Amino acid sequence: MLRAITRLFRHGELDCEDVAALSSDYIDNELKPEKRSAFQAHLSKCGPCQAFVGTLASTISALGRLPGVTAPAALKQSLIDRMHKEN
Ligand SMILES: [Zn+2]
Repeated sequence: MLRAITRLFRHGELDCEDVAALSSDYIDNELKPEKRSAFQAHLSKCGPCQAFVGTLASTISALGRLPGVTAPAALKQSLIDRMHKEN
């Protein structure tokens, strides 16, 4: 309940969970401009999310260099789970 109220007052700001959920869309350049700037605003003040997105981006681009291979959803999910444990 408290969390829902907090969310109402934050108007468009993202938290770490939102960033984790949106990170692959961000890397794929599929976020709307306002979501993208909210995402970047969060990254600019959150070290763990910077590290997470950086790791995910380099993993995806490393896999992308292999012909016919895309980052499996399970790998993205395991990175997201790992970040949550570290928090
Ligand atoms: Zn964060």
